[in-house]
Amino acid sequence: MNINVDGKGQNTYDAIVIGSGISGGWAAKEFGEKGLKTLVLERGRDVKHNVDYPTTNLKPWEFEHKGQLPLSVTKENPIVSKCYAFREDAQHFFVKDNDHPYIQDKPFDWIRGYQVGGKSLLWARQTQRWSTYDFEGPDRDGFAVPWPIGYDDLAPWYSYVEKFAGISGNKDGLSELPDGEFLPPMEMTKVEHYFKGKVAEKYKDRHVIIGRCAHITEPQPIHTQQGRVKCQHRDLCQRGCPFGGYFSSNASTIPWALKTGNVTLRPHSVVHSIIYDEQKGRATGVRVIDSETKEATEFFATIIFVNAAALNTNLILLNSTSSRFPQGLGNDNGLLGKFVAFHNYRARVSAEYEGFENFTKYGNRPNSCYIPRFRNVHKQETDFLRGYAAGFGGSRGVVRNSEGIGEDLKENILNPKLGKWYVGSHMMGETIPKESNYVALDTDKKDAWGIPQLKISIDYDDNDEKMVKDYLEQMTEMYTQAGFTNIKTSDSHQAPGLDIHEMGGVRMGKDPKTSLLNKWNQLHACKNVFVTDGACMTSTSTQNPSLTYMAFTARAVDYAVKQMNAKEL
Ligand SMILES: Cc1cc2nc3c(=O)[nH]c(=O)nc-3n(C[C@H](O)[C@H](O)[C@H](O)COP(=O)(O)OP(=O)(O)OC[C@H]3O[C@@H](n4cnc5c(N)ncnc54)[C@H](O)[C@@H]3O)c2cc1C
Ligand code: SF4
Repeated sequence: MNINVDGKGQNTYDAIVIGSGISGGWAAKEFGEKGLKTLVLERGRDVKHNVDYPTTNLKPWEFEHKGQLPLSVTKENPIVSKCYAFREDAQHFFVKDNDHPYIQDKPFDWIRGYQVGGKSLLWARQTQRWSTYDFEGPDRDGFAVPWPIGYDDLAPWYSYVEKFAGISGNKDGLSELPDGEFLPPMEMTKVEHYFKGKVAEKYKDRHVIIGRCAHITEPQPIHTQQGRVKCQHRDLCQRGCPFGGYFSSNASTIPWALKTGNVTLRPHSVVHSIIYDEQKGRATGVRVIDSETKEATEFFATIIFVNAAALNTNLILLNSTSSRFPQGLGNDNGLLGKFVAFHNYRARVSAEYEGFENFTKYGNRPNSCYIPRFRNVHKQETDFLRGYAAGFGGSRGVVRNSEGIGEDLKENILNPKLGKWYVGSHMMGETIPKESNYVALDTDKKDAWGIPQLKISIDYDDNDEKMVKDYLEQMTEMYTQAGFTNIKTSDSHQAPGLDIHEMGGVRMGKDPKTSLLNKWNQLHACKNVFVTDGACMTSTSTQNPSLTYMAFTARAVDYAVKQMNAKEL
């Protein structure tokens, strides 16, 4: 590499954060507020809140393809096209297949967002806390390694991030899904209320609740200070929200961090690797390649946070080799990149409900209902380990009718007939991290910036198959009990990845022989490098993971700064 090492002083910071998505945005905010001179390195372009949301206010008829994507685009992008949100209104926030290739040793749909804000612009904003039972999972059921922390360690940090991000939800009082610092919940539809009641009547341990989501339903002073206001239920969130109604790094943590005056955001900065200094026995900085000019630069800092999203964080650490760490930074035990897991989203059950004909729904609620895990929560009760949560929603559509001419046509369009109530559910299964599910650097192929491509080798196992079967049976039973009709089950057999909840590879644990990170998300073998995105996850549980990454990040920054001030870093 042709490295520009001029002006080392100019390029030196207290902290470097790699990635500006959900977790990186939190690291930037926390460091900035604590007064550390911080550099945020982001490989993608800048996306400024409100300024760079080109489709946010477009009407359906103002899109060239009425919101759909032309066949040529889907043919060129067979992987990302599988994601439900890759449509004409948000396609510019997704990585296109050919721009950033990777090796699928086994089929894996890797969905990415490379820009300031990362995937925080695109996420579905579902935010549930983990419970004690989730952290205890590996120890109780004998897989992976025990978590080095429990729910009580993270609970105050959940509260901390929830208050700032703005999480709407109902206090349901369930031990398997702890309540948080909620803004008022969204409403359930008529048929959702009905199903909730039926499930409560028939099952003691199953609950249908309104989704907990990162939307501002009643702005608090901390939200208005961010310039964010009440969610308007437009349900066009993936375009970027002009109201800041949902939490994204772009609307929330990044501008907040920049306002402290301590944080520098550097887009177009592809982190190649972390620099390890053998004499000092610590990481001293990072090597960066400008995504446009390909010029290489080095930046230096006392603390380095790796928040490039789970698999890219693995890639950066694997690519950070030195004579001390020939297999990648911190990788003394050879486990870096291994024990990667994900969520099993293969199965769905839909149905109809004959009734409630005098009721309808109002507005576009950007949220759904949630059924927390009920299998194997307190003890092992099935022939598979762990369990699944489920998304659930019930709505009523209109029967579109553009037939007729003149007055008839107008009447059909302006006053369409209401259709039946329909319900749908999708499975969110925990998968068991295994050594054989791994990522590694490809030995031949490099990307456009000379960085080895990632090889992904991840698959389902027998446990996942049994779980799919059980989910389909149990949901069918619950729908039947509720009197739903026309019940249809499906297993998409989709490859891992489309859940967009990939986790692990740099797992936390108590023992440096079997894990990479300690209980503070600090590399056991290189204490000034922290990983707080999905790569740190020892197991996956069933909850949507991003709230947990936020809590881990705020907690780890607090610890890192205290350590730095005590001259321990
Ligand atoms: C359609 C969709 C729906 C989702 N729904 C939910 C949901 O409901 N709930 C939930 O919890 N999660 C959801 N997710 C997942 C959620 O978006 C991720 O868990 C979350 O964004 C991860 O945060 P992160 O900081 O690890 O990564 P990201 O937000 O992806 O940010 C990583 C950043 O790092 C940058 N980067 C990568 N490599 C480098 C490098 N070498 N150098 C510099 N920068 C780099 C990237 O460009 C990116 O900006 C969803 C995702 C999608 C796409
Ligand atoms: S639903 Fe709420 S958060 Fe989403 S785009 Fe509309 S106002 Fe914004």
